[in-house]
Parts: sequence; structure tokens; C-alpha cells
Amino acid sequence: MCKTSKFREKKREVASVWAGAVVLLAYFFAAVPTAAAHGQQVAAQGRQTIERFLCNLPYTISLPVTLLLSAILFVYAVKSKGKRRLFGYIFFFMAVLMLWMVSNSQLLAAVVPDLLLLKRISSVLLYLLPAAANLVVSEVLEPPFRRVQLVVVGIYAVFLAAAVGFEMLGFPGLTASRPLYYVLLLVLEGCVFACLWRSARAGNAYSRALLFPLTTLTVLGIFDGINAALRLTPLPTYVMPLGVYSFLFFILQLIRDQLKRAELLKNRALRLSYRAAFLQERADRDPLTQCRNRGSFEAELPAAIWTARQAGEPLSLLLFDVDHFKQFNDTYGHAAGDTVLRGFARTVRAELDKQKSFYRWGGEEFVVLLPGEDVDAAAVVGNHLRRTVAAFLHYEKRPVTVSVGVSVYHGGCDTAQAMFQRADEALYAAKEAGRDCLRVERPQRAEEEAMA
Ligand code: GH3
Ligand code: MG
Ligand code: MG
Repeated sequence: MCKTSKFREKKREVASVWAGAVVLLAYFFAAVPTAAAHGQQVAAQGRQTIERFLCNLPYTISLPVTLLLSAILFVYAVKSKGKRRLFGYIFFFMAVLMLWMVSNSQLLAAVVPDLLLLKRISSVLLYLLPAAANLVVSEVLEPPFRRVQLVVVGIYAVFLAAAVGFEMLGFPGLTASRPLYYVLLLVLEGCVFACLWRSARAGNAYSRALLFPLTTLTVLGIFDGINAALRLTPLPTYVMPLGVYSFLFFILQLIRDQLKRAELLKNRALRLSYRAAFLQERADRDPLTQCRNRGSFEAELPAAIWTARQAGEPLSLLLFDVDHFKQFNDTYGHAAGDTVLRGFARTVRAELDKQKSFYRWGGEEFVVLLPGEDVDAAAVVGNHLRRTVAAFLHYEKRPVTVSVGVSVYHGGCDTAQAMFQRADEALYAAKEAGRDCLRVERPQRAEEEAMA
């Protein structure tokens, strides 16, 4: 290659480097402003997103809580017997509050094309809120305060009707009345606060529990009004939804009250059932001997017969009569007679197992029911009891003896009355036979005499 052609080639290389540099520079100067503009756009979009997020924040964090509180309250309202109206008003208030939050947040703004209508709905709900809240308050207050409270609710209702009426006539009733609304809120809620305060001091726990949420909601609401007018905060948002958290205290009080009431009712029912059982027990017992009395015997014998018939099992009855009992009374006095009766009852009870029912039929006559025992077994038990009494029961060294009559259930058409009658006849036979002995009802008498 010659010298000139080498030089030309070098020149071309230098030229291409310069051309590349110029292109790069041109690209750089063209790209930087575009990138900056893009960056600014992104930053603006980010700022907008953050602002929108912050504007919606009070609703986003309050709406689920309101929903949750409503759900918890619903469970208690279903369970609770009373306070239906109070629960109804609370649900109404919660519903208005939730709808207001939704209408104010940008949740609906994306789907509802008519933003003016949305604004109007939001205003109506805002005006409805204090009326709904004060309906709740009216339910917990005592009658004289309640009347004041209902007047307050009425004023809010008239105010709302007037604002809506003007709006329908074509005037900006809802927006123009906004400053007056906040003044009204301040004045009327001041009155409500005074009522609640006095009621709370008189001991109304609900009034005390409502003082805090009501004051919080009012203060936050008035702050929102001032903020909207004077633009105190950089973002056009409402903080009143956060006031729903202050309602937690009231709801907890309500739930605690419900639980307490349920506990109280349970305890009262339990006390009543104990008392009923105690009275029933006292009505069934003989106070002197602590045996079951004749009334319970007459109620239980047919039941025992029915059970024996159903089970196809035997049932026997022992009828005892203290021999010459009158002589204890006559010789030692009635207190001595009572002691003998108590002693007899104690002796028999000690020998009987718990399944056997022991009754004082009257005077010095007692009955033992022996379910599952046939006449032979009953005679054995009767004789054992008779011998035990004769061996161990004395009064002033004088032995106490008893005569015993035994009857057994015959099945079929046999009745309680007939069964007792047969035992009485057997007892009479025992007395006839010289006392301190046992006789069974007539068909078995021969066998029994052989046994004794
Ligand atoms: P028998 O051997 O024939 O049964 O003669 P009895 O003396 O035991 O029978 P009677 O029917 O003649 O006397 C029963 C007495 O029991 C009459 C009554 O005053 C007395 N009595 C009834 N209930 C009580 C009571 O609760 N306490 C006392 N101390 N006596 C009573
Ligand atoms: Mg008698
Ligand atoms: Mg007697």
C-alpha cells in the first residue's frame, strides 16, 4: 500500500470516530430532556398515587372495622332477648356510616360516572349520621333525657329534609347548608353531651360508655368541616371515619352487659331449680323420721308396679307396725314415742340398701318397697329387719318390737290399692298371731307359717 492511500484511510477512521461521537452527543442531548420529562411524569404519578392512598386511608382502615363490629353485634343481637331497638339503631348507624365511607372513598368514583350524584348522596349520608347516632343515644338515656334526645334527632331530620328539598328545587341546598350543619353539630352535640354526662353520673353505664365515642365523632366531624373550609391539611380527606374505633369501647360494654345478663339468668335458673328440688324434697320427707312420707309412697307404688310389669320382674311390699307403741307414749310421754319412731327408722335404714324405698305411712306404721324381690325374698328381708329391731332397739331397757305384713305384686290387673290392702291384712294377721312376727298375704300364708 502507498503512503497516500494509508493517509486517506487514517483520515476516514478519524472521521468515523468523530461522526460516532457527534451521534452519541446528539443522542445524549436529545435523550436527557426526554428522560427528565419521563422521570417527572413518573414522580407526579407516584405523588398522585400516594395522595390518593392517603385520602382513602381513613376509609380503608375504618370500613373493615365497622363491618367487623356490625358482624359481632349481629351475633349478640340474635342471641339477646332484649334491647332489640337499641341493636336496630346501632345497625342503622353503622350502615349509614359505612355507606358514607364508601360514597366518600374513591371506591365508587371509578364505577359511578355521575360524580355530582355521588357527592349529593355523600352529603345526605353525612347529614343523616348525627341523627342515626343520636337515635342510639336516645335508647340508652332515661326518659327525661330521652325526650331532649328525640328533639335533637328531630332537628337533624328537619335540617336534612330542608337541605334535600332545596336541592330538589334546583338550589345548592346540600353544599350551601354545610357551614350551618357544622354549627348545628357543635350546638346539638353539646346538649347531647350534657344529657349523657348527667345520666352517666347518675350511674348509667351505657351513657358513660357512649360519652367517649360520641365526643370523638363530633370533634373529628367538626375538624373535617373546618379543614374542608380552611384547608388546614394538604389533603382533602375526612378523619371522622377513624372515630369508629372509639365505638369499640361502647360495643365491648354492650357485649359485657349481655354476657353478665346471661350469667345472671343462668344463676337465677340454677337457684330456682335448687330451691324447687329442696322444696320437693321437703314435701316428700317426714320431718320426724326423715323417711319418705305417705304422699310419695302413694305416688311411687303405682310407678314401681308399672316398672315391674314392664320388666316382668317381681315386686314386694313390707308393712311394719310398732307393737304396743301407745304404751311408750303413755308410759314415758310423746317425746319417748318420737324417739322410738326415730330409732326404728334409723335401724331399718341402716340395714336396707339404697335401692329400697322406705316410707312412713302414718303414726307408727312404715312401708318398705322391694323391687325385684319375690315373696320369699321379701319375707327373708322382713324377718331380718324385725329381728334386728327386736335385738337392738330399746327404750329404757324395754325392747321395741314390730309386726310385719308382706304382699307381692301379682301382675296383670293387680293394683297398688289391692297390694297395700293385702299387706295390711297380713299385718293384722301378724298382730293376731301375737305380734313380733311376720305374715305374708293370704295365698302364701301357709308357706310363711311353715318358714317362721
Ligand atoms: P298395736 O300393737 O296393736 O299396734 O298397738 P299400738 O299401741 O301400737 O297401736 P295404736 O293404734 O293403739 O296406737 C298408736 C299410737 O301412736 C296412737 C298415736 O297417738 C301414736 N302416734 C301416732 N303418731 C305419733 C307420733 O308421731 N309420735 C308419737 N309419739 N306418737 C304417735
Ligand atoms: Mg298402728
Ligand atoms: Mg302399733
